[in-house]
Amino acid sequence: MADIWDKDIMYLKKVGPKRAEVLKKECQIRTYRDLLNYFPRKYVDRSYVAKVGELQGEEHSVTLVGRITRFALNNSKRGRSILNATFTDDTGEMDLTWFQGAKWIQNSLKVGEEIAIFGKPSFYKSRFQITHPEIDWLKDDQQKAPAQIVPYYPSSEKLQRLGLDSKGIRALVKQMLAEAGSALKENLPEDFVQRHNLLGRPQALMNIHFPTDFEKMMAAKRRLKFEELFYFQILLARRRRTSKLGHSAEPFPEVGRYFLDFYEQHLPFELTGAQKRVLKEIRKDLGRPIQMNRLIQGDVGAGKTMVAFMTMLIAKDNGFQTAFMAPTAILAEQHRRKISKMGEKVGLTTAFLVGGQRKAERTQELERVKNGEADIVIGTHALIEPTVQFKKLGLAIIDEQHKFGVLQRAKLWSKASPYPHNMVMTATPIPRTLAMTVYGDIDVSVIDELPPGRKPIKTLVYGESKRLEVFGFIRSELEKGRQAYVVYPLVEESEKLDLVAAEKGFELLEKYFKGFRVGMVHGKMKPENKEFEMNRFVKNETQLLVSTTVIEVGVDVPNSTLMLIENAERFGLSQLHQLRGRVGRGQFQSYCILMAGKKLSSDGRKRLKAMRDSTDGFKISEIDLELRGPGDFLGTRQSGLPQFTIANIVEDQEILAEARDAAFEIIEKDPELKMEEHRAIKFYFERFLKSQAKLGIVA
Ligand code: ADP
Ligand code: MG
Repeated sequence: MADIWDKDIMYLKKVGPKRAEVLKKECQIRTYRDLLNYFPRKYVDRSYVAKVGELQGEEHSVTLVGRITRFALNNSKRGRSILNATFTDDTGEMDLTWFQGAKWIQNSLKVGEEIAIFGKPSFYKSRFQITHPEIDWLKDDQQKAPAQIVPYYPSSEKLQRLGLDSKGIRALVKQMLAEAGSALKENLPEDFVQRHNLLGRPQALMNIHFPTDFEKMMAAKRRLKFEELFYFQILLARRRRTSKLGHSAEPFPEVGRYFLDFYEQHLPFELTGAQKRVLKEIRKDLGRPIQMNRLIQGDVGAGKTMVAFMTMLIAKDNGFQTAFMAPTAILAEQHRRKISKMGEKVGLTTAFLVGGQRKAERTQELERVKNGEADIVIGTHALIEPTVQFKKLGLAIIDEQHKFGVLQRAKLWSKASPYPHNMVMTATPIPRTLAMTVYGDIDVSVIDELPPGRKPIKTLVYGESKRLEVFGFIRSELEKGRQAYVVYPLVEESEKLDLVAAEKGFELLEKYFKGFRVGMVHGKMKPENKEFEMNRFVKNETQLLVSTTVIEVGVDVPNSTLMLIENAERFGLSQLHQLRGRVGRGQFQSYCILMAGKKLSSDGRKRLKAMRDSTDGFKISEIDLELRGPGDFLGTRQSGLPQFTIANIVEDQEILAEARDAAFEIIEKDPELKMEEHRAIKFYFERFLKSQAKLGIVA
């Protein structure tokens, strides 16, 4: 029998093709089920309606019910139009103000019409006013104030134009639940629901949309979050099981001539304790006939590359090739430079594969990879192209893995049978709580110690008014023989604008820093030109390097001591931390100067403060996670983290822990979910998998 929840939303009364189209485009609502899972973003308690005459400088937002008595359209000094309205509820008058959308508001709000407004009153020119209040039309609204908890749905301008503002969507949901509500079913075993003290699913879904009271709403939320996290944890529990059993792989039992030669005679420095410990963990993994699957976390500059190289030596000792993949050509080139130099010392050869290589060169490199002449193959995405064939690939290392997706990793693996051992490295530390929930299937090593003698980088935040001092300071560093980076931010809408900012900056800096040479790299350059410019900087032929964010990851020039970031508030925290990590790599005191633009959002301010106050990558990533939420933080697609509709793995730790325990217990008892009592779980778990696979999240 067809499932009513699969029904196209177009067929819901009052929807039709036009609205359906926009619902699909704007909110991915295609079916009844999608609308059912389109939860309110917040609820407003209308059970208490304030009175204008009794306002007293409220701390919080209030609901008021009344009507507008007149509008006034004014022009600001800057020529923007401001809309003012007088609002009354017969106990007094107050003002409403809009700085945007005056036309739209005036068209949709009629004088005298009964409305509810919601917002935080402020006291201005001896009257109360609310700026950009939320409006709810009470006419025809069954949810008539007062004494209601009213759900608010996310909407958009396009939806609003079709009458689908929050209220319009509310009406659709109501319509749908009237039609199909009786078809809601439980999807967890009854005793399970009771044991975990969960609201039944039908009741939860009714109450998430139209709560009868706050308690019910909270219970509904808990139930739906639990359910979502539970199925996710079933997935992890199953992954954990297969990875414990593991893919089979060639064991590397030997630590032989190559490793020992290098370790005893050519190591340029003493390894840190953390590097040694991590190497030991890796060696233990490699000794087994099961695929290693290890994430190496280490703050910028912690020395991950050396650990990677020494692991490659073990592969060579056992007769295997290594593929080493980096997210950008610049970074790959840098790895090649360093690794081929170290490799030469003990007789290891490298090949190099990036996009945009000359054909003859590429053909030659491909041949060397195929016939086994190359021991280490370094490159970008170009490594996973079908034309690349290895003689005997035994180890795959991915640098800055958060830049790659799960599928790319799988493509690299498929170049060997059995799969190569797998090591991924990241300088974006993932807070422990999150690592536990996200990487159910991967082992984590942490290089939690920086090489000795590093001086902590000093971070300073300045505004435009300090520009000359900042330039003066840069000059003094250059005069000491040091080098500096100047980074311009990504302008979201257009890479072109990006380039304009950087190019203008370049001209300015060339003029200002006469006597020093200025270089520039940006995202639009051909790889060979980028490489050329980077090389000039590495060789100190240029002293100042202007760039867009292409140097974000991995570049290592120990002589550069200063990182100037323009419009630093536009960068994400982990990006800022990565950029800062480009300096402080040698014996000199290094500086990171964050130039802040005039308009700082409160998040922007928090980010700059976090940068100033801490150099600890873990601490910074925790703040980043807090500010951005897990989806953005990890980059949903990259992380293997599902798109949650309602759960938030940071805020819902408690529910998560309970759901996790429950899921792991069930999978331990019944790994394939074959037991009769787990039938419902199996059914809905498979549906969960399907929906995540559609998003490209689960491979
Ligand atoms: P990341 O972990 O950010 O990839 P790198 O591997 O680029 O860091 O290392 C940063 C710098 O530290 C490099 O110049 C590297 O040669 C140096 N380095 C790595 N390990 C040590 C060590 N044990 N002692 C001293 N310097 C080290
Ligand atoms: Mg690195």
